[in-house]
Amino acid sequence: MDWPRTPVERVQLFRPAFCPWSGCPEHHRRDRGYRFRRHGFYGTLRRTVPRFLCLTCRRTFSRQTFSTSYYLKRPELLLPTAAALQAGGALRQIARTLTCAPSTPARLAARLGRHALLLHCRATAHLRGRLSEPVVLDHFETFEFSQDCPFGVATVVGARSWFVYGLDPAPHARSGRLTARQKHRLATRPRRELRGGYRASTRRTLKNLLPLVPEGKNLHLIGDGHPVYALAAAEQPRALLHSFPNPPRGPKGSPRSPAARARDQAMFPVDLLHALLRHSVAHHRRETIAFGRRLNALLERLFLAAVWRNFVKKRSERRPVPVSPAMQVGLARELWTWRRVLSRRLFRCRESLSTIQRTLYDRAWTTTLLPRNLRHDRVHAY
Ligand SMILES: [Zn+2]
Repeated sequence: MDWPRTPVERVQLFRPAFCPWSGCPEHHRRDRGYRFRRHGFYGTLRRTVPRFLCLTCRRTFSRQTFSTSYYLKRPELLLPTAAALQAGGALRQIARTLTCAPSTPARLAARLGRHALLLHCRATAHLRGRLSEPVVLDHFETFEFSQDCPFGVATVVGARSWFVYGLDPAPHARSGRLTARQKHRLATRPRRELRGGYRASTRRTLKNLLPLVPEGKNLHLIGDGHPVYALAAAEQPRALLHSFPNPPRGPKGSPRSPAARARDQAMFPVDLLHALLRHSVAHHRRETIAFGRRLNALLERLFLAAVWRNFVKKRSERRPVPVSPAMQVGLARELWTWRRVLSRRLFRCRESLSTIQRTLYDRAWTTTLLPRNLRHDRVHAY
């Protein structure tokens, strides 16, 4: 996958390759030959920014339109916010460290999440017809606002590369034993739209994965015996499910049965991802006050975590080999830095998003429990 190393702000002789205005026919250009003209410049405290005129739609734009820090008052905060979010920082802690308003990291987290979502879509588009390994599927359990509103996130990880191929939310009803007080509280909560729960989430996940499998080959799926995985796999003739049901385990510390060992070995890549998420994303720690309030915002942060896992982090920290999961699947030649991840802005109309990904990008997956749900519906904003 071609992805520049140098941030666009640092490129001396920047030449736009397409028009950034989404209504322009030149917005979707993939090949060379975009016609534009220089149109002066404007100065900032740090540097001068060149402006351009599109010779097709006659509208103007600047180099900054192609930057992830487009329209930001404090562009220097974007990179440290990404790193701090992934280092287990909660929003207010990040705001105190970076000396900015507490709302700033929240807004930047949303922007970073949208960028990560688009980057993830671009990466998976490059992997079409190139998936050459079995994938491990499991749902990561978390909740929005209250434990009364739990949801799972379908996580698909490559069995050999440990590349995260997909994330998909699956809201479901609260289960387990409840006290009378909890039952009463649950009854007073507004109804949530479950959008098909686990089954629809697994179905969507398989639908997104199948185009990655080469023609004439099957998708080998490893799961933990959840009944909906078998149901969803049965609907797809090219999906072969290998089930490793969770066996009963004795008290903590007791030796594992052979079935438990086989399950742990088969599910290791996805178990490791879940452990990493609980360890390095503040919102998914157990018993934290940084818990996520909105499903949409949590998914944004999970996409950021997936990009970090795939491109920035080494596949294994224990082995001193600087190889990332993206390098294993042939998307990158070296480990990426956060600077490189944020080196270019991506445009929603130029990437192929699934319906759910579009919903998440627009922040249209609202949390009914909360009175206000801001959507991302600005026409030109990033
Ligand atoms: Zn144009």
